Amino acid sequence: MNILVINCGSSSLKYQLINSDSEAVLAKGLCERIGIDGSLLTHTPAGKDKVKIETPMPNHTVAVQLVINALTDANHGVIKSLDEIGAVGHRVVHGGEKFASSVVIDDEVMKAIEECNDLAPLHNPANLIGINSCKEIMPNVPMVAVFDTAFHQTMPEKAYLYGLPYEYYEKYKVRRYGFHGTSHDYVSARAAEILGKKREDLKIIVCHLGNGASISAVDHGKCVDTSMGLTPLEGLIMGTRSGDIDPAICDFICQKEGLTSAEMNNVLNKKSGVYGMSGVSSDFRDVEKAANEGNKHAAAALDAFYYRVAKYIGAYTAAMNGVDAIAFTAGVGENNISGRVEIAKYLGYLGTEIDEAKNNVKGEDTVISKDGSKVVMLCVPTNEELAIARQTLALVK
Ligand code: ADP
Repeated sequence: MNILVINCGSSSLKYQLINSDSEAVLAKGLCERIGIDGSLLTHTPAGKDKVKIETPMPNHTVAVQLVINALTDANHGVIKSLDEIGAVGHRVVHGGEKFASSVVIDDEVMKAIEECNDLAPLHNPANLIGINSCKEIMPNVPMVAVFDTAFHQTMPEKAYLYGLPYEYYEKYKVRRYGFHGTSHDYVSARAAEILGKKREDLKIIVCHLGNGASISAVDHGKCVDTSMGLTPLEGLIMGTRSGDIDPAICDFICQKEGLTSAEMNNVLNKKSGVYGMSGVSSDFRDVEKAANEGNKHAAAALDAFYYRVAKYIGAYTAAMNGVDAIAFTAGVGENNISGRVEIAKYLGYLGTEIDEAKNNVKGEDTVISKDGSKVVMLCVPTNEELAIARQTLALVK
């Protein structure tokens, strides 16, 4: 069966068509500037050249139709007709406490996703628009929602409750949810597979280090803690997000700089992290280059980033009373060789040491710690689209 995986943003739509038997990506692409002048579809069929189609996309339904046209086109298409799409898997950011796993989408599910809009006002409404557009164009194709938050729903109360008046949890569901769940699930399962063990027998820490970054503690197959919270702002220092700070800083800076809380929120989400600290870039490659050329702020930003990751690894080792494997994934985790070395320098107490030759890899499933290390460190490329396709297949077949 061919499964169309859709990741819909407010003005963008990413897609991959995956064959579930071979797990090959038949085509992938991106619609940009939906609803804005200069809409662009970039379509990449496997083994063929990339095609750029500039045409108006006033809304997401038009974008979905253009994606279907591209997938079935005589020249750059990869299937003959819509009939060759067996199911659609949608990435949905927030499932609140309602969804602890993926579900087949029906009217009730749509309503429940809508009820979570409050918790992810920038993402969930866009995800719903994507689902509705696909339903319009493919009314008879089964669709599945795969939530970023679902894998973390196994966290115990002690991990998800904040030290706030309990009524905020009762009234507004203010608690830790965590994100990147599809990646933490996929990478922890893959790490166990690489080690030839069952995930249910292991304590695994997954470090998803991308532009957005989060860590999770996966104890015998279940997530017991994760660094992102009610929103993706909490936890690690990220590309542009601050991660953990003293909450009193917000009021302090608002008063000093005359900012509103919305403006402060924007600073914390878009102007902080290694970008704000270094003044150079949110892209770790640029920050690393600047640090290597002697930029002290860039070096300090990277130091703080690695130190924060190491502190969370320590915290999650305590949370699980031990750790068997630490997996690095996403853009920085998979590709930043020297970054993994810097983080590993803090982990000697765990009885693990990086093997410089083995660590010399980018984006490949590899054990990167020395033979005989008590705790195994690994590089494990994430693949959220494949994970969504697998979960979709499991629910529709
Ligand atoms: P997101 O999905 O959150 O946008 P990614 O997982 O794609 O993020 O990660 C993007 C980050 O990965 C960027 O900061 C980029 O600099 C970093 N990255 C990608 N390749 C490399 C590399 N070869 N070395 C260091 N960092 C890299």
